[in-house]
Amino acid sequence: MDLKKARRWYENLLFPFCGCLALLMITQLMLFGYLAVVVAVAMCVIDFKFWRCPKCGRHLGRVKKRMYCHACGQELDT
Ligand SMILES: [Zn+2]
Repeated sequence: MDLKKARRWYENLLFPFCGCLALLMITQLMLFGYLAVVVAVAMCVIDFKFWRCPKCGRHLGRVKKRMYCHACGQELDT
């Protein structure tokens, strides 16, 4: 998975995560809480496994619109 795809997946999972939390608060059904946890785990996996510099392999941090690797200076196609 390239950086563009990883960022897109991460951002696309944000809405279902917030939606599950909202449904949990409205309906108080724990099913939505479990779904929110599953989505959050998927977001963490994408972040830690795929949000890395293609040159040096270091994690790129919390900012998802980064243009350069903070460790090696590699230009990033995000
Ligand atoms: Zn790097």
